[in-house]
Amino acid sequence: PTAVTHHTYDVIVIGAGGAGLRAAIEARLRGKRVAIICKSLFGKAHTVMAEGGIAASMGNANPRDNWEVHFRDTMRGGKFLNNWRMAELHAKEAPQRVWELETYGALFDRTPDGKISQRNFGGHNFPRLAHVGDRTGLELIRTLQQKIVSLQQEDFARTGDYESDLKVFHEYTITELLKDGDRVAGAFGYQRPTGELVCFHSAAVVLATGGVGKSFKVTSNSWEYTGDGHALAMRAGAKLLNMEFVQFHPTGMVWPPSVKGILVTESVRGDGGVLKNSDGVRFMFNYIPEVFREQYATSEDEGDRWYTDADNNRRPPELLPRDEVARAINNEVKEGRGSPAGGVFLDVSSRMPAAEITRRLPSMYHQFKELADVDITAGPMEVGPTCHYVMGGVEVDPDTAASAVPGLFAAGEVAGGMHGSNRLGGNSLSDLLVFGCRAGAGAAAYLDGLASVPTVSDESVTAAREDVERPIQNSGGENAYTVHQELQQTMNDLVGIIRKADEMELALKKLHELRDRIPRVAVDGRRAYNPGWHLALDLRNMLMVSECIAMAALERQESRGGHTRDDYPTMDENWRRELLVCSLQDGEVTLEHQGQPSMRSDLFDLFEMDELKKYYTGDELGGHRSDAPVRKD
Ligand code: FAD
Repeated sequence: PTAVTHHTYDVIVIGAGGAGLRAAIEARLRGKRVAIICKSLFGKAHTVMAEGGIAASMGNANPRDNWEVHFRDTMRGGKFLNNWRMAELHAKEAPQRVWELETYGALFDRTPDGKISQRNFGGHNFPRLAHVGDRTGLELIRTLQQKIVSLQQEDFARTGDYESDLKVFHEYTITELLKDGDRVAGAFGYQRPTGELVCFHSAAVVLATGGVGKSFKVTSNSWEYTGDGHALAMRAGAKLLNMEFVQFHPTGMVWPPSVKGILVTESVRGDGGVLKNSDGVRFMFNYIPEVFREQYATSEDEGDRWYTDADNNRRPPELLPRDEVARAINNEVKEGRGSPAGGVFLDVSSRMPAAEITRRLPSMYHQFKELADVDITAGPMEVGPTCHYVMGGVEVDPDTAASAVPGLFAAGEVAGGMHGSNRLGGNSLSDLLVFGCRAGAGAAAYLDGLASVPTVSDESVTAAREDVERPIQNSGGENAYTVHQELQQTMNDLVGIIRKADEMELALKKLHELRDRIPRVAVDGRRAYNPGWHLALDLRNMLMVSECIAMAALERQESRGGHTRDDYPTMDENWRRELLVCSLQDGEVTLEHQGQPSMRSDLFDLFEMDELKKYYTGDELGGHRSDAPVRKD
């Protein structure tokens, strides 16, 4: 059999995006030896693509902002399905995590008086996103990497080896978690360029693998987003929750086809860009839902005044939460008021001088100029919804990021709960920092309390090795690219932005058929530099995640956040109490209902009764203080 290289660490962190790096730093600061493993080159994780900013209620742009307002906005954005404890920790700790980034060397854009600048974003009541132009993710990753290098330099001074306590294994893919009884004991994978097989021995594993977008045809996500962490967690015995909630970002590029789906940051709208249909109408004014009616401008004049006087005007509806804007665009196109390439127009050129646009949105300018030959300072962009983010993920303990499997932790996009049914823009980067840090601390504390170290059995390594080698040893049979294409088309067409029971039933049938074909996928060639082989291995993860999404979406008979049912178009307060949870039983994805824990009363009291009535059932509201202070955010 092929040789397997072995490594031993206290903690392994799978994923080198914001969540993974912050977790690794925390575990190392708490004295653990840590390995960071990632599929691409170090520094190329998905986080690097984040554009708009990090949400944190520092109150620099508006002193009325604070954690309570951020908490309320997050819960409203998620339509109160969020895990409230996660939303609380996130709102309270995000400012600290951003200031800490500065101590690591981050250079944010500044306000005129020298504070960290904060910009407007959909669903956030005050300007709240700390940013670096439209390249915030790049600065976040650069800074965390710099911190890692500085820790490695400290380690060198002590041990004579830069990598003694913190080592990066880049271009490695983990294919299986390994267990000893109930507990995690390590992970198995391969090195992408060479095909070398590798086994990590470690009593604590932090999953920070990001999202699942590559299961859909039109997506803003990169090739790394194949839902590996979601599937690894399920196979190890953890649960996934909220998988029906997939965020379709309203503004992806729609032209040319080769770049369809690539993201156009929400900052374009936050900084003044407006959406128009083919009749030149700012159509979002026709789509303000009842639950948000009081918070949004009802005339263009008021909306425009808000950019310079936010205290005395309401925000324009272009800045409604993403699910609302995506549905509105979808409807305009469906009703024949779309742009030539099948989107709508996003115009910033008539709203700001050209120099201002290129200063504030340099990457957007470059992206459209280079990829679509469109000058966004001279005319509108054509945009439409694109699969962007998965709210669903591994069920974790909010305080420690621990999953149900001892030793397995999850943070960032792979974890579920924090964002409920819909994530607000900017709340992911803050989520990565807050819960990445907590996961690193949680893993370290778990190790400190461990009475005996789990061991990896030879049998589990052999089984993982056989799975990895199967596509190379198969002959004839299925083509990985064909199966992937069919999977993406199925999810796009049948479990996309607007869902119907019969279409999702069809999707599940198709997914089962694809599941039967995957074991027959065969790849040509050797292990070295073989992307077909990599895809063949990713397929089973994408399929498992897709099954979870389709099953949960079929089960939830209401529309809420990132889940819109044509056949159940309204939100139902009884469904707010239900969480849909997927797990693997004898190799089959199964779905269960789980009750949503009630919100702590002091947090409940942060909302006014009139607002809660829109989301909660009468019996749940019984205990709410009628004298709760009236708040105007
Ligand atoms: P990632 O940064 O995706 O990192 C995942 C890591 O896991 C990678 O290193 C990958 O190689 C590794 N990995 C995955 N599977 C395996 C495996 N099997 N083995 C080994 N390694 C593996 N959010 C905001 O808050 N603000 C924004 O302005 C914003 N802009 C965005 C713009 C774009 C274009 C996109 C696509 C997203 C944006 N988001 C934004 C969302 C945000 O960027 C992501 O949700 C976030 O970066 C996810 O970070 P993460 O640490 O969870 O995972």
